[in-house]
Amino acid sequence: MDTFVSLCKRRGFVFQSSEIYGGIGGFWDYGPLGVELKNNIKKSWWRATVQEREDVVGIETAIVMNPRVWEASGHVQTFADPMVDCKNCKHRFRTDDLKANDPSREGRCPECGGELTESRMFNLMFKTFIGPVEDEASIAYLRPETAQGMFVNFENVLTTMRKKLPFGIAQIGRSFRNEITPGNFIFRDREFEQMEMEFFVMPGTDEEWHDRWIESRFSWWTDALGVRKENLRIREHATEELSHYSKRTVDIEYDFPFAGFAEIEGIANRTDFDLKQHEQFAGRTLRYFDEASGEQVIPYVVEPAMGVDRCFLTLLIDSYAEEEVRGEKRTVLRLKPELAPIKVAILPLSRNEQLVPPAHRVWDLLRPHFMTQYDDAQSIGRRYRRQDEIGTPCCVTVDFDTLNDEAVTIRERDEMTQVRVPIANLVDALREKLDGC
Ligand code: ATP
Repeated sequence: MDTFVSLCKRRGFVFQSSEIYGGIGGFWDYGPLGVELKNNIKKSWWRATVQEREDVVGIETAIVMNPRVWEASGHVQTFADPMVDCKNCKHRFRTDDLKANDPSREGRCPECGGELTESRMFNLMFKTFIGPVEDEASIAYLRPETAQGMFVNFENVLTTMRKKLPFGIAQIGRSFRNEITPGNFIFRDREFEQMEMEFFVMPGTDEEWHDRWIESRFSWWTDALGVRKENLRIREHATEELSHYSKRTVDIEYDFPFAGFAEIEGIANRTDFDLKQHEQFAGRTLRYFDEASGEQVIPYVVEPAMGVDRCFLTLLIDSYAEEEVRGEKRTVLRLKPELAPIKVAILPLSRNEQLVPPAHRVWDLLRPHFMTQYDDAQSIGRRYRRQDEIGTPCCVTVDFDTLNDEAVTIRERDEMTQVRVPIANLVDALREKLDGC
């Protein structure tokens, strides 16, 4: 993990939040390269989940909602983890983590061996107050999931978009959980981003749709993101593990070097639980008129839910490689071109004054088409290594021959092959190498 934390800091992917004040546990900032990778992940998910489908639409809902939403959803009563405190060193732990780590030391602190308090439940929702008075009546919560935004807008979307079952509503947005033990870098945060989709179906077709979504979500990880299949698995939740709303849940898990297989996405059959609860709490009917049977039905819901930050970490780990090239070590992120933060680096062979103008002309030519970086510091070999380390698929080198032949060299990250291309054809040649992106 140290390798990834240090790479992320050194190369501008992820910084500790409020670092100059010593940081703050469970919060992270994304740097110039991090924000690009994150945006590319979100674009890929949105394309697969909304753009390419005829049956899913997107929305964006507020982070703070009427607090009744969280009573209806069950979060006020049940969104809690059991925790214990050490009476001696005051460290706090999740009870289930302690059991999983070392069952033989149950009841003792894993840090100092001290006595632990009884386990008690801790609600993970962040509380705030609306308006100037901080009393019970003004309590509100930062949302712990984006899903409820889709449920409370079910009727709005159904009527404005004239949707027929089955159809889905998707959203990308921030969620907040006051995790007892945030950690493992950006794996478990207190503020993170989720990509969730609620797929509304006719009751009775939910199990079939659940299977379809499991298959389709797994393929997204392998085909769209290029995560290696051997590092992924699908795990069925045991009955006692199921959330209060779920009939069946399956997790897609990644084999993390620090934790073994752990969840990166959950795909749940949420039944009609949420819509029924909102009907009851809001005193409104939230139903779908089924023309075939002439009946009003409450749809069932299949929900694929994943976190952008955890996906970010998965991609870093999965694409990371250290190789030996001509006796030298190189670190390379083998990200798909679509995901790479920088697609093309423009590298003049040196800072020679003859090379600077054509290199800048090439950079000007490419900037409207691709995310680029211009680098003229240190030897060309070093600069290739720097681009390999951040996953840049193509480097364009401007050298003294360019002055005569109006051509440049494209060097590819993975095979390190080099081809000479006329500047006039450069945009098309790069687009082809970058799989059209
Ligand atoms: P875990 O068991 O790891 O706490 P969960 O089952 O509570 O996760 P879900 O409620 O199913 O998670 O959330 C869906 C997805 O959101 C997860 O698969 C994960 O990618 C992401 N996620 C959940 N909690 C966090 C967190 N604290 N930090 C980062 N991502 C998270």
